[in-house]
Parts: sequence; structure tokens; C-alpha cells
Amino acid sequence: MRGSLYGASLLTAAVLLATACSWRPSVPISETFNSMGTVARVTVGPQDRERLPQLTAEVHKEFSTLEDLLSTYQPDSEISRLAARAGQAPVRVSAETYRVLELARHYGELTDGAFDVTVAPLVRLWGVGLKPPDHVPSPDEIRTRLQLVDFRRIELNDGTAHLPAGMSVDLGGIGKGYAVDRAFDIAGRLQIDSAMVDLGGNIRTVGQAEPGVNWTIGVRNPFEREVIVGKLSLAAGMAVATSGNYERFVELGGRRYSHIIDPRTGYPVEGMAGVTVVAPDATMTDGLSTGLFVLGAAKGKELLRRVPSANALFIPDKSPIEIWITPGMKAVFVPLPEFSSSVRILN
Ligand code: FAD
Ligand code: MG
Repeated sequence: MRGSLYGASLLTAAVLLATACSWRPSVPISETFNSMGTVARVTVGPQDRERLPQLTAEVHKEFSTLEDLLSTYQPDSEISRLAARAGQAPVRVSAETYRVLELARHYGELTDGAFDVTVAPLVRLWGVGLKPPDHVPSPDEIRTRLQLVDFRRIELNDGTAHLPAGMSVDLGGIGKGYAVDRAFDIAGRLQIDSAMVDLGGNIRTVGQAEPGVNWTIGVRNPFEREVIVGKLSLAAGMAVATSGNYERFVELGGRRYSHIIDPRTGYPVEGMAGVTVVAPDATMTDGLSTGLFVLGAAKGKELLRRVPSANALFIPDKSPIEIWITPGMKAVFVPLPEFSSSVRILN
């Protein structure tokens, strides 16, 4: 596994501060910490400067609690225990884990199985987030693992969860978004008017950067890490997430594979460089950006007709760059002048 996990959040901050510094004496300020294998950044507007340490401390605590429950990297997390007891007995889980599993099932249904948290055995087979395997998985190995993938077989009953034998769950595609929504709730409880929380590129705003001015973030060019293709203007409370093949990937036999697996074929997704989703909550943007990365633009735009509150921006993996946006994205996304001729509306 190669590649930095830090780029999205750093880029976000750079864009935000550059915008703010250019004309305001009092700028938003941020604090960062590490969580869930990536960087978390909590930013507040000038009017909430004094509250930043408290907000960051409470968000950090919440992220740590959720990481201890949801991580597949921790052998004693509830999610790891669920896999250890697969085929044996239901496991009583916390309200948080239960809720995330319900939401994972919801986004599984919404995306017709393109988003599927039971893809875990294939994620491990392809070495995502771990040491890459010593060979490209064979069709037989993939077929065997595919039999263990079906989110509909997660049994959720009255506070308990159960998986059929051999199955396991990976919340890498939804857990950070869920955590960011909990951070949003904390900001609400602390009566903070102006904030933005970013966990590894999963972002949600609280209020506006300042009265009358939306928070803005940059959309990175997946082919040139330091370049942005445009900016997103996020209305109060909106969330954004990007699923890409440029920050986290697997290198095997001289080829680079995406970390997002198509649960229908068992192979890493090809053809897509990045998908950015803007929607009213961060669980939705996390789940949908991963699902739409699998589905691609043609099927993705059909799906989004059923979710009018969400909009997407697709950058296919081809040169020269093309930026495909759903119609509602026109009001949110402002391309940089040099990329405006690359934008196409998906009708
Ligand atoms: P997303 O598109 O949001 O998610 C892609 C990830 O989802 C893949 O990496 C895979 O894990 C999974 N996935 C692949 N295909 C599918 C599919 N079709 N449907 C659903 N899911 C799919 N990383 C570390 O290196 N160390 C850690 O200690 C660590 N701890 C973590 C703890 C938690 C609770 C979570 C949620 C993640 C953790 N991570 C850790 C993972 C890390 O942050 C990942 O980079 C991240 O989850 C991938 O997110 P993304 O936003 O890049 O991509
Ligand atoms: Mg996701």
C-alpha cells in the first residue's frame, strides 16, 4: 500500500485559509490530530476562536470512541469481534455500531450493492491498507471470496449483530463520514455557529465561514495532486466527500489497483479517478462517494435521481481531464478558468 492519506484534508485547509487571508484580518483557525489512519482537522470561524480547543477535544474523544468500536485494524473492536463470531452466535453491540451497520445496509440497498461493507474478505485479499499480497489474486481466489460478500446477510436484531460463517465487515467506506456527523452534533450541542470538520477528506460544515459567506473547499485534480480543478461552495450544514484512486491504492506486479473493490466482480474498480459527492450529511457523502465510484457516471446519475439532495462530480480516469457534474452541482461547483472547458453536465 502506498500513497499519502493526508492530502485531502491539507488541501482543504490550504484553500480555506488562502481565501480567508486575502482580505480578512481575522481568519478561521484549525487544530489537527490523527484518527482512523488519517488526519482530522477541526476549523472554526473567527467568532468561535475561543471555543476551538473544547470543540477539538470533544471531537477527538468521540472519534477515538468510534474508532475503538468500528476499526478492522483493532482486533478487539466490536467489528472485529463480529467477524470472530461469524457463524457462531450474535454479538451484542453498542448503539453506535448498530446504527452504523444499519446505515451501511441502507447505502447498500440504495446503491444496489455497489456499496457493500461485507466486501472485507476481498479488501484483505487485494491487500488494501495492509501489506500487498505477493501475487495478483487468481480468479479462483476471487470467486471463493465473492461467496462471502452480501450485505443483505448481515443480521441485525434488537441490539445484536450476526454474520454467516466466514463473513466480515469493513467500515472504511462509511465510518469516517458517520464520525463527522457526530462531530457536527457536538458542535451543535456546544452552540458553535461556524465550524468545519474534516476527517481524511470527509467534511461537514456548521453554519457559514462568516455571516453571508459559505465555507469553500477545493476539488483536487486526481492527476496532479497539488492542483485544484475548482471550488465547492458549501451551504450551512452541508457535507462533502471524495473517493479517489490517488491517495490509497495497491501496487501489484507493476500495476496500480484502486482500493475500492467492485463487490459484483471482486476486482478493483477501473475507469474512475475520483468521485466527489455533496449532500446534507457526511454519512451519505461517504457511502455514496464509494458506491458511485463503483457504479460510474452513467449508472450513478440514474441513482442520484432517487436522491435529489445529493450531487456528484465524476472525474474519469482518462486524459485529457474531464469533469462530469450532475445538474444540481452547477450551483455548488465553480471550476477554475483553465478547467471550465473540461466540465460537462450529466443530463
Ligand atoms: P472510501 O471510498 O470512503 O472508502 C474506501 C474503503 O472502503 C476501502 O479502502 C475499503 O476499506 C472499503 N471498500 C472498498 N470497496 C468497497 C465497496 N465496494 N463498498 C464498501 N466499502 C468498500 N487506515 C489505516 O491505515 N490505519 C488505521 O488504523 C485505520 N483505522 C481506521 C478505523 C476506522 C474506524 C475507519 C473507518 C477507517 C480506518 N482506516 C485506517 C482506514 C482509512 O482511513 C482508509 O483510508 C479509509 O477508510 C478509506 O477511505 P477513503 O475516504 O479514502 O475512501
Ligand atoms: Mg466512502
